[in-house]
Amino acid sequence: MKMKNPEIELIKNGKRLDGRNLDELREIKMEVGVLKKAAGSAYVEWGKNKVLAAVYGPRSLYPAFLKDPTKAMLRCIYNLAPFSVDDRKKPGPDRRSVEISKVSTEALESVVMTERYPNSVIDVYTEILQADAGTRCTALTAASLALANAGIPMKDLVAACSAGKVSGEVVLDPMKEEDNYGDADLPLAIIPRRNEVVLLQLDGRLTREEFDRAYQLAFDGALKVYEMQKKTLQDAMKKSAVVGD
Ligand code: ADP
Repeated sequence: MKMKNPEIELIKNGKRLDGRNLDELREIKMEVGVLKKAAGSAYVEWGKNKVLAAVYGPRSLYPAFLKDPTKAMLRCIYNLAPFSVDDRKKPGPDRRSVEISKVSTEALESVVMTERYPNSVIDVYTEILQADAGTRCTALTAASLALANAGIPMKDLVAACSAGKVSGEVVLDPMKEEDNYGDADLPLAIIPRRNEVVLLQLDGRLTREEFDRAYQLAFDGALKVYEMQKKTLQDAMKKSAVVGD
């Protein structure tokens, strides 16, 4: 959401409000297997964003006329909790969450091997507990970790990151003040192994040169996120091998 800049100095001497350099990610923490009753789950903290993802299924799809004998239906639901933002958000879906659910489902469909589960549904819930800009990237990152944690066959993980333009500078991973009072925001999600882009949106205006720079920054950011995702899954596997979880 873009707002008029209330004269906050977003970049001072090459540093951002939270002390980051222009090409620096916020701190990211990831954990899988946080919900024992879900088939798979993940919790991601990305700066001040806090997101929980839970996978249920593959399970039988009802009503039956929705069943596809060639593949499973994948449903990713993005929900901003009423307490996740400064002003209480009205509970339930709105235009924004319906849009993010749709683009997230499409991004995940490109990696999940849905043909393995005919007539079924795989539900992926992403709950934004605390929001601070970049929540769609955080949610997609968590969703793909939760799917892997559920043992659902995938061609690769989806990794995401955003870049933006703030005070005339192209920056990596804008936080809320930068998103609100900045000039542009460009969320990107990729499938690293295939070098494919599965989500690319632009809110605001960029020149062609700024777009290229923002795209490159977001792409490199997503690759760093990908490495963290793989390490999180590997560490969880090692731990469960020891504990027998
Ligand atoms: P993203 O979170 O993916 O960057 P947006 O650019 O639409 O998506 O939103 C930026 C930020 O604006 C969100 O992360 C959240 O902090 C805030 N925001 C979004 N929707 C609302 C809302 N309905 N009420 C209050 N704040 C919101």
